Amino acid sequence: GKMEPTDLNALIKEYVNLSFHGMRAGKNPIDVDIELDLDPELGNVPLIKEDFTRVIINLCNNAFDAMRGKKYEVQSTKNNDGEIDNGIYVPKLRVSTFLDNGKVRLSIEDNGPGIPDEIKDKILQPFFTTKKGTEGTGLGLSITHDIVKAHGGELSINSTSGAGSTFIITLKP
Ligand code: ADP
Ligand code: MG
Repeated sequence: GKMEPTDLNALIKEYVNLSFHGMRAGKNPIDVDIELDLDPELGNVPLIKEDFTRVIINLCNNAFDAMRGKKYEVQSTKNNDGEIDNGIYVPKLRVSTFLDNGKVRLSIEDNGPGIPDEIKDKILQPFFTTKKGTEGTGLGLSITHDIVKAHGGELSINSTSGAGSTFIITLKP
């Protein structure tokens, strides 16, 4: 594919939606409160469309997987009286675009379990996965990172244990 001026906000709307509906149609669907906060000032962004769509899909699918795991964990947590606490966790995905000093930023934020410190420096490596069996190939983030770099961009990751993860892509102006 080649770099072409692309309506990034429209691409996000389409592919976040597609990822969500794919997840809902698959094994172990979860409810997710999805918030899109897209800066209308963004304009067209040079992107290799068919590659960048995979970035959106990979990051959304990781967020869904992470929040699914947390949901099951929370639901099976017993309180001090030995009762099961239900319905206290609402999975939330927030995807936003914004301009920062002429640079386009895209952030994908979930309120899942976060990324444990001991694996933070491994998750971009090909084949690294914490998912069981055939559930994860460990290639999603490695491919995502490669695609972002091929666009001349950067990928940064913020995560707080128990509170969630944010993946931020910064594209060159
Ligand atoms: P896979 O999804 O096949 O496991 P990835 O390369 O996409 O491979 O991700 C690697 C690992 O990074 C995941 O197995 C998981 O442990 C961790 N990870 C990725 N995204 C998130 C996230 N949003 N929250 C928590 N952990 C994550
Ligand atoms: Mg993945």
